Amino acid sequence: MVAATVPGARTTTTSVIGVDLGGTNLLAGAVGPDLGVHHRVRRQAFGLDQPTLMATIVDAVQEAATAAGADVAAVGLGIPVTLDRRSGEAVYSTHLPIAGMPFAAVMSERLGLPVAVDNDGNCAVLAEARHGAAQGAEDVVMLTLGTGIGGGLVLGGRVQRGWIGAGAEFGHMVIDMDGPPCQGNCPNHGCLEVMASGSALVREAALRVGRRPDTPLGHALEEGRALTGPLVTELAHDGDPVACDAMEAIGRALGVGLASIVNMLNPEVIVIGGGVIAAGEMLLAPARREMQARALMPARGAVRIVPAAFGDEAGMIGAALLAREEA
Ligand SMILES: [Zn+2]
Repeated sequence: MVAATVPGARTTTTSVIGVDLGGTNLLAGAVGPDLGVHHRVRRQAFGLDQPTLMATIVDAVQEAATAAGADVAAVGLGIPVTLDRRSGEAVYSTHLPIAGMPFAAVMSERLGLPVAVDNDGNCAVLAEARHGAAQGAEDVVMLTLGTGIGGGLVLGGRVQRGWIGAGAEFGHMVIDMDGPPCQGNCPNHGCLEVMASGSALVREAALRVGRRPDTPLGHALEEGRALTGPLVTELAHDGDPVACDAMEAIGRALGVGLASIVNMLNPEVIVIGGGVIAAGEMLLAPARREMQARALMPARGAVRIVPAAFGDEAGMIGAALLAREEA
C-alpha cells in the first residue's frame, strides 16, 4: 500500500471512491461507510496508452464523485501492478502501461484528493476477509479470475505482500511447465493465469468450437457475436456442450493450482472472484474435485473454496476500504 495525502477534512459519514482497474475494464464506485455502493462507473481500459489510461481513471473518479455529492473524502485504487512499497512506484505491470511512475502521487495531484493505492488482488482479499465470504477467517487466499489472475493473501489477519510488495502472485504459479506461454510480460509457461483465467476460457472455447461448430456457441459466432468470456459463461449456463467443456477445463486447471496453494499455505478459506466467477459452481465444482484429488490431508479436508461475496466488485470495495483506512 502506498498513500499520498493532500490536506482535507473527513468524517465517517462521507463517501470514498473505490477504483478497480483490471486489464480490460475499469470499475469505479462511490462507497458509503456501510459499504453500500451508490454510483458505479464503468470504462474500458484495454489497449490504452499511458496518457489516455490516466485520463480515463481521472474521468471515471470524477463522474463517481460528482454523483456522490460534495462529500468525497479520498480515493482508493486497486491496480494490477507490482508497487514497490519503498518508493511508491509502480514498478511492473503485466497488462497496463503504468510501470515506472509514482502512481499514487500523480493521481492525488490530478484528483485533488488523498489517494491510496494497492495491488488489485490485495484490495480484493481485504474486502472479502474483512466483510465478505471469508469474514472471521485469519488465513485467506483470494484469486481474482479476469483477463489475468490476481492474487491476494491474508495470513494472521494481515494482508501479506512480500518483502517489496511483489508477493502473492498466485496467477503466476506454474501448473504445466510445458504449457502455453504466459500473458503480457511474464516470461513463464503454463502459469495458472494462462490456464484458468477468462482469457483461458475463451481460448479453450475457441479450440473446441472449431471442432464442433454445430452447437449453440458455434451458431452464436456464425451470427457475428464475439467470442468472449461472458458469452461462454452464458451459454454454459444454458447447457451448451462446448461452453460446458471449456468451463470444466479451466475449473480443473484452477483446482491444480488450488492444491498447491492448500499444501503451501493451509488457508482456512480460498475466495474466488473476478468476472469468471459469474460461472459459479460450474467453475468451482471441478476446481474443488481436482484440489481434493491432489492436495494433502489434513489441509485439503479443512479448506473452504467459496465465491466472492462481493462478486466482481471485491476489488472496488477493497480499494474503498483502503481509502477509508489509509489515504
Ligand atoms: Zn505467468
